[in-house]
Amino acid sequence: MKITVLYSGNYGERVLNTILEKFAQKIVSIHEIPENLLEYIDDVTEYVPENLKESDLIISVGLFGDINLVVCDIAKKINAKSIIIESHSPKQLTSGLKSEILNNLNDVNAVFPKPFCSLKPVGDTYIDEFAKYFGSPEIEITGETNVKSVTVMRNAPCGSTKYVAENLTGYLFDEVEFESGNKLHNYPCLASMDIDTELGDTILHLAGYKIKEAVKKSLKFSNNILKVNDNCKGFECGFKCYKICPVVKMGENAVEIEKTHANINYIYCGYCMKCLNACPFNAIEAIDFKK
Ligand code: SF4
Ligand code: SF4
Repeated sequence: MKITVLYSGNYGERVLNTILEKFAQKIVSIHEIPENLLEYIDDVTEYVPENLKESDLIISVGLFGDINLVVCDIAKKINAKSIIIESHSPKQLTSGLKSEILNNLNDVNAVFPKPFCSLKPVGDTYIDEFAKYFGSPEIEITGETNVKSVTVMRNAPCGSTKYVAENLTGYLFDEVEFESGNKLHNYPCLASMDIDTELGDTILHLAGYKIKEAVKKSLKFSNNILKVNDNCKGFECGFKCYKICPVVKMGENAVEIEKTHANINYIYCGYCMKCLNACPFNAIEAIDFKK
C-alpha cells in the first residue's frame, strides 16, 4: 500500500508523527497544506501540491473549510482508491462539503471519521489496512484488582491511546475508566470543545467516550450504567433515546432497539444523560455501582 498524507496545523503534525511510527515505509508523499486559509475558496487547484506520487490511500488531517476539496483533484492525479478525511472540530467539514467531495470522486471510497479515533474497518482494503493499527482505541488490560500492564492493539491516530496506556499502571480496576478520560485530557486531546450540531455533543467528549469504551471492553464492566425499565414505549415516543444519542450518531450501538423497547449498551454509552433527560416515560434509570 502507498499512502499520501495531507496535513495542516498542530493536530495534523501530531497525527503525521504518530502514523509515521508504523507506516514510514508506506507513506510515499507528505504535503503540508497552509493553515488559516479562507473558509470559502473559489478554486482550490492552486493548492494542489507539486511532486505528487501515485498512491492507494490519501489521509487528510487538520484541513478546515473548502480547502478539503483539494483531495478530489489530488485523488485523480495519483489514482487514489480510498480517502480518509478526519474532523476534530465542527468547523472543518460541513455536510454540504462532504457531499461535494463525494460527488467529485469517481470509484473512490471516502470516509469522514469524527473524531479520527472513531475510525474502524469499513470493508475497504486500504482504509482497513490503516485501521488495523490506527483509529478506534483497542487495549488489553492485565492484572488482578489493579492494572499491571496495558497493551495497545489499536492506537488513536493522534497517539493518545499509547499515552493513556502508559499512565494507567497501578490504578484499581474500579478507577480505570474514569482515569482513562483524565489521561486523555492530560495528553492533551486536541478535539474541539464546541458543540458539533451533527452529533449533538462536543467532539472532545466523543473522544473521551472512545477511550472509555476501550477500557470497558477490556475489563468487561463499568461503574456507571443506564438501564431501560418496563415503562419504555418505543413506538409511542419514536425512540427518542436512539435519535438523541451522540454515540449512535458517531456510528456505535450505544442504544439498541428490540421491537418496541430500547436497550443501552454500557460498553459504548458515554453516560452523557441526554437520553435519560429526553425520555418522555422516565424509562431510563442511572445506576452508579460506586454509591
Ligand atoms: S427508553 Fe424512553 S426514549 Fe427510549 S424508546 Fe423507551 S420510552 Fe422512548
Ligand atoms: S447516556 Fe444515553 S445518549 Fe448519552 S451516550 Fe449513553 S446511551 Fe447515548
